[in-house]
Amino acid sequence: MTIYNVVAMNFNKVHFMVDDLLNFKIHRFIIKNGDDILKINHYEVFENKFTILLNSTINIKEECFVIYEDLKVKANYSTLFSSKEFNYKYYCDSDLGYKYTKDNTIFKVWSPAAKNISLLIYKESEPSLNEKPEIIKTEELSNGLWYCDVQSDLDGYYYTYEVTVYNKCYEAVDPYTTAIGVNGLRGAIINLNKTNPDNWKDDTSPRLKSFTDAIIYETNIRDISIHHNSGVKNKGKFMGLTEETTFSDKNICTVLSHIKELGITHIQFMPIFDFSHKSIDEKNPTKYNWGYDPQNYNVPEGSYSTNPFSPYCRIYELKLMIMKLHKNGFCVNMDVVFNHLWHHVDNNFQKIFPGYYFRYYEDGSMSNGSGCSNDTASENLMMRKFIVDSVKFWSKEYHIDGFRFDLMGLHDIETMNSIRKELDNIDSNIMLYGEGWNLNTALDDDNKACIKNSLKLPKIGHFNDVIRDTIKGNIFIPNDKGYATGKSDLESLLKNCIAASIKNEKSNMGIFYNPCETINYVSCHDNYTLWDKICVSCENESLENKKYMHKLCNGIILTSQGIAFLHSGVEFCRTKNMIENSFTSLDNINWIDWDRKALFIDVFQYYKDLINLRKSHSAFRMSKKEDISSHLLFLSNMPKNVVAFILKDHANGDSWKNILIIYNPNKNVEMVNIPYTSWNLVGTRDKISQLPLEIIEGDKVQLAPISMTILYCND
Ligand code: CA
Repeated sequence: MTIYNVVAMNFNKVHFMVDDLLNFKIHRFIIKNGDDILKINHYEVFENKFTILLNSTINIKEECFVIYEDLKVKANYSTLFSSKEFNYKYYCDSDLGYKYTKDNTIFKVWSPAAKNISLLIYKESEPSLNEKPEIIKTEELSNGLWYCDVQSDLDGYYYTYEVTVYNKCYEAVDPYTTAIGVNGLRGAIINLNKTNPDNWKDDTSPRLKSFTDAIIYETNIRDISIHHNSGVKNKGKFMGLTEETTFSDKNICTVLSHIKELGITHIQFMPIFDFSHKSIDEKNPTKYNWGYDPQNYNVPEGSYSTNPFSPYCRIYELKLMIMKLHKNGFCVNMDVVFNHLWHHVDNNFQKIFPGYYFRYYEDGSMSNGSGCSNDTASENLMMRKFIVDSVKFWSKEYHIDGFRFDLMGLHDIETMNSIRKELDNIDSNIMLYGEGWNLNTALDDDNKACIKNSLKLPKIGHFNDVIRDTIKGNIFIPNDKGYATGKSDLESLLKNCIAASIKNEKSNMGIFYNPCETINYVSCHDNYTLWDKICVSCENESLENKKYMHKLCNGIILTSQGIAFLHSGVEFCRTKNMIENSFTSLDNINWIDWDRKALFIDVFQYYKDLINLRKSHSAFRMSKKEDISSHLLFLSNMPKNVVAFILKDHANGDSWKNILIIYNPNKNVEMVNIPYTSWNLVGTRDKISQLPLEIIEGDKVQLAPISMTILYCND
């Protein structure tokens, strides 16, 4: 006899299955909850599944077992923890974490399952020193909220919680802590006001009219300055991005000066929150890791600070960097990874309240759509509250201007909409976007914050994999080509992408309802760099042709409707030596190679001028789909593969009346018919200019091979 899938559905109902129904003697099983035997009201059997309705309520501070003869099988509580009844009974609206003043510090932590929680206060940050902590009892108030008020000045001390839960005792770091010791193994008690740089209260972010005005540049704190020729003193650190005038030995601008020269609007940082000490030892950061393995969500990563041993230093230096970037005209977006934790068991959530913060299947197995061994359960109210609180904290405390949600499709719709609402209350200019992939997680499809549900996610952006793969080829098929690299018959699909991928019932194309929803990109930190993808899929092309393809790829991105996104280094043909997933590769693969900027200075100049053109002309940045339908007109009768369109009648208030953009991915010259007038040529495959390069009179224009041509007219 086997009893399996024992699940507490709510406080009064238990399910289980038996494999040998004929021999199962129904009067012989009991349900034990701690020391108590729960009274059974009645049961139902369907096939081999029993549904037991209880007279008494399950006490969640104790485990529950179905006991039958010599079998004893533990009930899984995760369905109970996700139930309306549970979330109604235990939702705790209090602020959590600690609140420091010179006279006292108040600590609050939530765990309805815990039987006891003690606060442990340490002088040192390192567990390896075996220091005996001061143990302070906390008191359980209502809703599973544990509280204590320590009447002394705790600035400079460290703390953890000792949690007694389900007959085990764990030592955990407070998930809400805002400061930590080295490697994040203990919370640190600090006066957060002391982490503010001078004039922090006067720090302001650049303003946008619309999210479509953003040109996002994705980079990594370490990669951007670690190269030996970056010209930066604080290589690989937050402080590296505060150095305002830096050059390589070839006298070429680097790092912050380079980004300024390039002219993008938003810098998106790969993880800057504290990631696992197992990935990067903050005391000796010789290994490399991108950091998509969260450990302490509300604290910056220590290996990016000049002194990870000081809890103040990492916070101060990150704020200083953000302030410097704001001052230089950039918004700062951060990559957040709430969808999973670095380890499914050895993490603070699990130690404080086992089984609550993660998503499970009914058989008790962990949902793993993230591919990282666990998915968090954003649909559970206190997990949702944690995510919302954390995002609010980063935007208020650190002045973060945008959030890029890693694997956003794993979260539920209501969580993402709650975040949008809270951010709007702070500043409606704050961007919110993420990877809306539909992943295999234990959540109904209708409830996932993924692209196919974008109608239910207003003002939230999604990375657009359709434009990405249409332009450069499928990311999973290395030698697959795209529109810009030699694949035919993609004109209709591309046209939809150019027009912000707006859903069109007639053509059955499109994925979005609003141009602010599409993050248009061809490459990011994942997969091959754009240059490597072109080298793999077009290996026999000349270097010149590869460069023209590369420019055409992002030429399309920077002239399409929606939000433009660039992977740092793409502006000088970044390579990672054909490594597709470089998350633990060394610096010499991941770094921005500042010597390469000199080698590809022509490509850099092209990107820079094109970014400038996009920023100067609002026609490229329409914020309403109605404007796109009335101001974007595709020209017909083009040669095969050529796509041409006009942004007409001063689109979106543009100073130019009509802008004509023509892509020719063919390897031959094409002559095309255009409306008869006097056209000013401002973009060729070699040069982008704000002033006319040439006047073209008449109704024909010649297109160079593998090119983007841009013209405008004012009559
Ligand atoms: Ca860390």
